[in-house]
Amino acid sequence: DAKLDTAFFGHPKGLQTLFFTEMWERMSYYGMRAMLVLFMTASLQQEGLAFTVASAAAIYGLYTGAVYFLGLPGGWISDRLLGGQRTVWYGGIIIMCGHIILAIPHPSSFFIGLIFVATGTGLLKPNISAMVGQLYKTEDERRDSGYAIYYMGINIGSMIGYGVCGYFMENLGWHWAFGAAAVGMALGLVQYRFSQGYIAGINDRPANPLSTKGTSLAWTVIGAFIAIVILTVIATYQGWLVINPVALAGSVAIVFTITFFIYFGHIYFMGELTESEKKRMWALFLVCVASACFWSGFEQAGSSLNLFARDYTDRLVGSFEIPTAWFQSANSIFIIVLSPFFAALWINMAKRMITPSYSVKCAVGLIIMATGFLVMFFAAQYAADGLKVAPYWLITTYFLHTVGELCLSPVALSAVSRLSPARYVGQMMGVFVLTYSIGNIISGLLAGSFDPENVQQIPGLYMQIALFSIGVGIVLVLLNFKAKFWERANDTDELRLN
Ligand code: GLN
Repeated sequence: DAKLDTAFFGHPKGLQTLFFTEMWERMSYYGMRAMLVLFMTASLQQEGLAFTVASAAAIYGLYTGAVYFLGLPGGWISDRLLGGQRTVWYGGIIIMCGHIILAIPHPSSFFIGLIFVATGTGLLKPNISAMVGQLYKTEDERRDSGYAIYYMGINIGSMIGYGVCGYFMENLGWHWAFGAAAVGMALGLVQYRFSQGYIAGINDRPANPLSTKGTSLAWTVIGAFIAIVILTVIATYQGWLVINPVALAGSVAIVFTITFFIYFGHIYFMGELTESEKKRMWALFLVCVASACFWSGFEQAGSSLNLFARDYTDRLVGSFEIPTAWFQSANSIFIIVLSPFFAALWINMAKRMITPSYSVKCAVGLIIMATGFLVMFFAAQYAADGLKVAPYWLITTYFLHTVGELCLSPVALSAVSRLSPARYVGQMMGVFVLTYSIGNIISGLLAGSFDPENVQQIPGLYMQIALFSIGVGIVLVLLNFKAKFWERANDTDELRLN
């Protein structure tokens, strides 16, 4: 066996390239996302867009949904046209252009900028996540721990984003803050270019390239799509076409869920998979179910839990009032503190031959997240009685949510990279990232029933989320024996038969 590359904290040097690229990309993404609703709802005097809260919330949901939905074409383009390395590079450039456009203080720059950022993220996000796993050989037990480290990079990036964009927004204005996001992405691109040597040979060409004819057809179709988007944007700005974001957001959750099944089913039935690849797809399906359920609860952080912090939490410490937004960074801080423990935990468990299936790790994550909502159930009962609760209720919930996230999110990424048929890994990562979309949108719909006017309902909402997640978690634990069997399917058994 060749000697293992352990140059980056015991991991291949290429992890460094991907870690920092994704860190800067997430800095720009979360930095911008944190101001999105504030910018849309700010008045014209405050140089905002003066949208209503309802349309701002709907546009926010559509945008975050679209960002991850576009991972599907992004994965496809990598598998069939460009390979992961180039797709990530172009994606990053498009993201940077999007933030630059947002930084231009002109009324029509807003939606155009968002379209750029969403498109670029669709190209970058699934493929960089797939490349992390491709640094490891199939049986390398460092994979889960590599994803845990990578996940830490994601959250260091989001912390920098919240801090820098938040500061610029307060002190210099919206467009400087959008500009800061563009600078962040630019740093990521420079870093990627200069350290690309470390990922030489990793996903540098399409895994399953189209024929020359197919390639030119594909580019024609992509060109046609771009033309349609441009025409739609022009028609909307001219007022020829009226889009109602609130109505649109409602139906999009269904469309995304159906798309998930169609795409997954398409690869399963039409992808000419071997028997063992099909078994591993079943194992992946369980992971995707856990992921969609998880984010539906977890993503309340920005919506209903945020309102809970604002309205029902006693944020006064002495004479200092903790700003509501500070609670949002609890998640990033806990991730950064806890990630090294989880990275070590997965390695140690593997060494001791304790190897639960991926879906059981995810199920444990889901159940731990649910216990966070049990805590909120009690906190919300105090709120329903007209009291304000101490900050540690929310902090405890965010702690549990983060522990759950670390059991599920990096593990699920690792599962996708390990279990997908190699020639579909980009697309499967795209399908997986679609579970983020579904989770985000369902969480928005659930949070819609969080009615500050009717605080009596809130404990019930949290209890429902907790029970549902625990229920799904238990089913997945019971399916562990099946999942293990599916995950271990490998083609050498089949080759022997042939
Ligand atoms: N924080 C994680 C990331 O940015 C997961 C995002 C999500 O909404 N699922 O990758």
